Amino acid sequence: MKNIKIPPDHPRRESLKIREKIIEGHAKTVVATAGLIAHGRGEGFDYLLGEKTSKPALNAINAGAAALLTAQKPVISVNGNTAALVAKGIIDLAHITGAEIEVNLFYRSQEREQAIKELLEEAGAHNVLGVGNKASAKIPELGSERRRVDPNGILVADVVMVPLEDGDRTEALIKMGKTVVAIDLNPLSRTAQKATITIVDNIVRATPKLAKAARKLKQDMKKCYEILRYFDNKRNLAGSIILIKERLSEIAEKCESLNHEG
Ligand code: ATP
Repeated sequence: MKNIKIPPDHPRRESLKIREKIIEGHAKTVVATAGLIAHGRGEGFDYLLGEKTSKPALNAINAGAAALLTAQKPVISVNGNTAALVAKGIIDLAHITGAEIEVNLFYRSQEREQAIKELLEEAGAHNVLGVGNKASAKIPELGSERRRVDPNGILVADVVMVPLEDGDRTEALIKMGKTVVAIDLNPLSRTAQKATITIVDNIVRATPKLAKAARKLKQDMKKCYEILRYFDNKRNLAGSIILIKERLSEIAEKCESLNHEG
């Protein structure tokens, strides 16, 4: 597929570059058609958040890195959008934290899971879980294809990182007693509300920051436990929602003052 040329001074350059990656992933069957729409929902919230990593997101990134590092069996769940956007970053994070990588899809087909596995392997992954016969276990109480998990991965994990997740599975994983670290730009989603640690940020920005935090925290495991003891997800999530509210108020005030000037 031919990439379009985005002018270097285009005000929405970064966002358009990310969009191109998703479109490319869709052409390679890595991203499901519904994944394009899910991306659009994320873009909308990113716009409201000012397209940068906020203070609450950074708090959650530190807590997420600490949760992965202190886990007995951490697993990073990967769907099509995640693979298309941050395959290398996820592998880096898995390497630092000792986490396994497992493919888990709402729209599962052999072709898609294979395409995602290949993309991850091209990016340097060695042992991708959850593909083909490996996804032989089931999460109880879940109707969608997302219930299919690897008996050596998500099924037995104590900490699961779920970027761009759906709410049903987050709830099911929590019910199974797992610590769930979510990355979701929508602070109102069921996933964001139900997860143990919610990183309200674009996965493209959050993943390298998670790797950086994990690299640093790995030198100080005592600090990891301390971060986890004081982290309050509900309060932190409220911080992201308040941020959106304040940004909207500021923009509304600017609009009003322009209206008075005119
Ligand atoms: P829920 O079931 O949790 O209420 P949902 O129905 O919105 O959520 P999906 O459509 O399955 O769930 O998930 C997509 C989620 O991923 C959306 O909440 C969207 O905001 C988020 N998202 C999309 N792209 C990104 C991205 N690049 N980075 C972080 N989050 C993203």
